[in-house]
Amino acid sequence: MSDSAPRMPATGGDPDVVSVARFLASTRAEGPGERTAVWVQGCTIHCPGCFNPHMWSFRGGAPVGAADLVARILDAGTSGLTLLGGEPFDQATALARVAAGVRATGRSVMTFTGYTTDELRQAVDAGRADVAGLLAETDLLVAGPFRADQLDRVRPWVGSTNQEFVLLTDRIAGSVAELTGDPDRLEVTVDAAGGIAVNGWAELDALDALLDGLGERVRHAPS
Ligand code: SF4
Repeated sequence: MSDSAPRMPATGGDPDVVSVARFLASTRAEGPGERTAVWVQGCTIHCPGCFNPHMWSFRGGAPVGAADLVARILDAGTSGLTLLGGEPFDQATALARVAAGVRATGRSVMTFTGYTTDELRQAVDAGRADVAGLLAETDLLVAGPFRADQLDRVRPWVGSTNQEFVLLTDRIAGSVAELTGDPDRLEVTVDAAGGIAVNGWAELDALDALLDGLGERVRHAPS
């Protein structure tokens, strides 16, 4: 889909329930500082080359009540929440409630979206209170679809150079230039059973090489 074709976030869904694809209590690879990351299930944008196509379908994911999700995020004790996916604005009503609960404690909210700022503005102008609500509870917005032909090898957290950082409040200290001066990070977690989970950003070739080597080490680790 091209950037020029206007898209409108999906509507519907339970306004009190978030479809969660993945919950990570603590990470330093999904935004500034130590944050809790929630990947949501479902995305209508379908960027070619997306790293999370398994999060496109609105089937699957774990339904979590907004209040329960807020409690889990606060229990994690981090400085803020990062919403990514999947597409947060395709379930904006429930996520605005979650974000409001998190922000009420003084924490910050960073939201990734495949919609452009123009598309979100058009949705708000068209009366979409759900979109306006999630924007109102977002401190740092990262907007725009992933473009596989415009890989970003400089800024952290984003995949392509067209994606735009927008500070919507001053709750997260620093300018966009200062925030995006951090290096990209990749976090790899190996559980006791040898299961490997990855988050953060790396180009596929580098990730494949890392996981191949890591798999060898896990297979040969002394018990
Ligand atoms: S908006 Fe995000 S989750 Fe959706 S297709 Fe694009 S990169 Fe993938």
